[in-house]
Amino acid sequence: MQQVHETLWCRNCGEETPHVQKPPNHLLHFLLALATLGIWIIPWVYLSIKQDRPRCQDCGALYTAQLMADKFDEGE
Ligand SMILES: [Zn+2]
Repeated sequence: MQQVHETLWCRNCGEETPHVQKPPNHLLHFLLALATLGIWIIPWVYLSIKQDRPRCQDCGALYTAQLMADKFDEGE
């Protein structure tokens, strides 16, 4: 399956690390949606949103935008 690789800031590691993003297999999900009479559309949408974020290859954490990380740090 096609993967997207990019170097992004990982909040967990505290440094820029290689991230990998796996786009959902839409053809497979489409066939599953047909097979389940449309019921599979719900997990399809859920997985599409969830898998849309790059994952750190060092620690496995999902990528958090630096802007959001700054906001969280202010509250601590
Ligand atoms: Zn990391």
